[in-house]
Amino acid sequence: MNQHPGIDPPPFTTTVVGKLENSLFLRESTCYPRGGGQPGDTGKISVIDDPSNMDNSASKSISSNMKEVLPGKMIIHPVDDASLFSEGQKILCSIDNDRRNSHTMMHTAQHIFSALSEDIWGAETVGNQIGEERSRVDLLFEDKSVFDPDTIIEAVNTTIHSKISVHVHEWGRKKIMSHENMRHTKFMHRIPEVITHLRVVEIEGVDLCPCAGTHVSNTSMIPKVKYAGKKNKGKGRLRISYEFE
Ligand SMILES: [Zn+2]
Repeated sequence: MNQHPGIDPPPFTTTVVGKLENSLFLRESTCYPRGGGQPGDTGKISVIDDPSNMDNSASKSISSNMKEVLPGKMIIHPVDDASLFSEGQKILCSIDNDRRNSHTMMHTAQHIFSALSEDIWGAETVGNQIGEERSRVDLLFEDKSVFDPDTIIEAVNTTIHSKISVHVHEWGRKKIMSHENMRHTKFMHRIPEVITHLRVVEIEGVDLCPCAGTHVSNTSMIPKVKYAGKKNKGKGRLRISYEFE
């Protein structure tokens, strides 16, 4: 259960295996922890007495909001009040799907935006921040005067409308480092050697790169994007924002 389903992650039952201040550690979790510019999931955690009886309203009376899930040796699930929970308890975790779905679509759009910016202008993505309403990509150009919003937005929307399949692979380091179409391998040296396989995201013919974020399975699931402004961020750098129409 360590995969993060992209869209509409269903509620899952699991067991509380530890607590630290106002956070819970769970035996399993499909929550996405903040990382790579994508915010962590939020939602609700409820105690259930009988895992087969998920709709029993009485047993759901003990519950707490789950705040943004964070990365750690074990995924950190911050809650409003951890004292409501105890180790060994069965819980039901419900992810806020509207928020997650929006992040998934925004993040997949960012792959397309970054890949096409590289193809069109040779611009490298040096940062990004995904949001529910608006996302941004920091691009590094040799000469940023070449940037033209209409060109990239039209190219991104053409890709979205082309109904392109998105695949998630688990590949070994060697295959990743030696693949001629692989993008964004610069950070690979920062990943501990014990991790031999990484998730690779492929948007057929558009992008191929290691990524642990959440993704749609077809680009047609992404709404049309629109340009939402740019900011100068120093020599050669532009921060470009986009929204969904
Ligand atoms: Zn990704």
